[in-house]
Amino acid sequence: MVLKLDHIGIAVSNLDETLKIYTDLLGLKLAGTETVEEQKVKTAFLPVGDTEVELLESTAPDGPIAKHIEARGAGVQHLAFRVDDLEATLAELKAKGVRLIDEKPRYGAGGAKIAFLHPKATNGVLVELCQRDEA
Ligand code: ZN
Repeated sequence: MVLKLDHIGIAVSNLDETLKIYTDLLGLKLAGTETVEEQKVKTAFLPVGDTEVELLESTAPDGPIAKHIEARGAGVQHLAFRVDDLEATLAELKAKGVRLIDEKPRYGAGGAKIAFLHPKATNGVLVELCQRDEA
């Protein structure tokens, strides 16, 4: 079951410069940064209301974020919905024939369990599902 819009993922080419836009100009507060080696990405989370902005900067030229920026430019990259039970949700979607990038949960920033659906399954939007145990 989807509980809420957990965060909006934005691909950036320069994390420090982009952070200034969200903090100095828009007044959001940086909750923290984290490098996820497996995804070759450095992330920064900025809570806003009941959701968060996630800025993503590639740490390697062949990382998924670098490739995204090369193909489509910087900007909104994915929407993440929080679910109560990620494994059950993935099993349900799989049973419905939905194309998944991740058939099994993996770990993302902040220790969340995450999985991506294939953008072809969602009319072009990269959708992440995430489960956070502390909330
Ligand atoms: Zn995300």
